[in-house]
Amino acid sequence: MVRHFLIALTTLGLSACGDDRSSGSERTSSQNEYAMPASAVVSSKEAKQLFGAKTAASAQQPDPIGGYANGCVAGAVQLAETGPTWQAMRLSRNRNWAHPETIDFVQKLSAKAAAQPGWAGLYVGDMSQPRGGPMLTGHRSHQSGLDVDIWMLPPKRLNLTLAEREILSSISLRRANGAYTNDNWTRQHHEILKAAAQDPQVARIFVFPGAKVRMCNEETGNRAYLRKIRPWWGHHYHFHVRLNCPRGGAHCVNQDPPPPGDGCDDAQTWVNNILNPPPPDPDAPPPAPRRELTMADLPRQCASVLASP
Ligand SMILES: [Zn+2]
Repeated sequence: MVRHFLIALTTLGLSACGDDRSSGSERTSSQNEYAMPASAVVSSKEAKQLFGAKTAASAQQPDPIGGYANGCVAGAVQLAETGPTWQAMRLSRNRNWAHPETIDFVQKLSAKAAAQPGWAGLYVGDMSQPRGGPMLTGHRSHQSGLDVDIWMLPPKRLNLTLAEREILSSISLRRANGAYTNDNWTRQHHEILKAAAQDPQVARIFVFPGAKVRMCNEETGNRAYLRKIRPWWGHHYHFHVRLNCPRGGAHCVNQDPPPPGDGCDDAQTWVNNILNPPPPDPDAPPPAPRRELTMADLPRQCASVLASP
């Protein structure tokens, strides 16, 4: 059963995004308990059940609240299912919602993608739920309306039916467990990732390590944008774009910026460790068990996002 589920996820091109070292995760429940009146603690129910049940955005001004992996989004906007240069995929998930700046970004990037040979635009994967927040399945981030997954599959056409958008698979670009790209990688992937990273709204992009190293090796122009291309697990059926908090987003929590420099040496080290894994550290502490977020863990404004009509 579990195995079947994993296979299904893989064929859907949904590698779980492990890209969650966002600030905001240091917001502990004990801090929050003191920040909110007792009456505001609406439920000990898992927040993913509450946010996962919402089918439409809150009737509020657009406002990303909290961090990428500990937040929600007020007044989200739905990406049109089909536009001149994009299609939203897997519509049954109802995750084509985001802050308006994310919607703008996707539309702009898709127009740039459409200028690449062989690309009609972009197939857009998960963004956020209608009110953001934790999800019942898949991502730990994508909570504040500022994350978007973009498929690696070059769209040949943008008239896929709803049914086709449920069953079509993306393609993987990786070889050797992510140490290298495979034959599906093209210069167009490089150019689209570069265009995304050069956008000042973008904070970082997650992609498998072999892709970053290849881009490092092949970039002959300005390398500054490479700083935002971050090697990460998974992310070979799609890449993941994370935007900065919008100007004036008073409740939005940014992640620390990537370390200075182009990050190419670190990416190469990651690749080397894939190829020749270091022996396990016998003194490493066991991974801390993950607890599901409750409303008390999220910023208190998320209770009103949930309660809004
Ligand atoms: Zn993602």
